Amino acid sequence: MLSEKTIMRTVEELTAHVRRQGGKATAQRLLIWSALYQDRSHPTVDDLYRRLKPAAPSLSLTTLYNVLNELVEWGDVRRFDTGDGHIHFDPDTSGHAELVCLRCHRVVDAPDGAIPEPSAPAEIAGFAIVTRSEQFFGYCPDCRRAIAATGRVAATATSEWRR
Ligand SMILES: [Zn+2]
Repeated sequence: MLSEKTIMRTVEELTAHVRRQGGKATAQRLLIWSALYQDRSHPTVDDLYRRLKPAAPSLSLTTLYNVLNELVEWGDVRRFDTGDGHIHFDPDTSGHAELVCLRCHRVVDAPDGAIPEPSAPAEIAGFAIVTRSEQFFGYCPDCRRAIAATGRVAATATSEWRR
């Protein structure tokens, strides 16, 4: 699923890529891309903002949104909604499914072979298909233990799993 082809790793590759797209490789863009391309946690905008802010105090949420949306438009990053108001970003644009926890909102990739390989036809009803998104909703192992221990489904804090 995760391959050298789908993920650009180096600053040089990122710089060359943005120039091909007609953009400017600003320091903030490179910082945002570098952070996201190494990230397999399906971060939200807020996750990325909290993580990047110490290294880039002048970074604004607006800039972060703009750069992320630009990457989505270029087909370099996938954006998906987990149905609870959380928008996640994923640098792996290959066809793969995510498992979403309804309690703590953790998102993980479905392991290879766990479900039939999702595929995306090149074209559907005149649409040129770039990527597809598939999510399975349920409870993660930690939340299943917590529910079993407390008898309550509701988490006390939705961000308790975050570092
Ligand atoms: Zn959970």
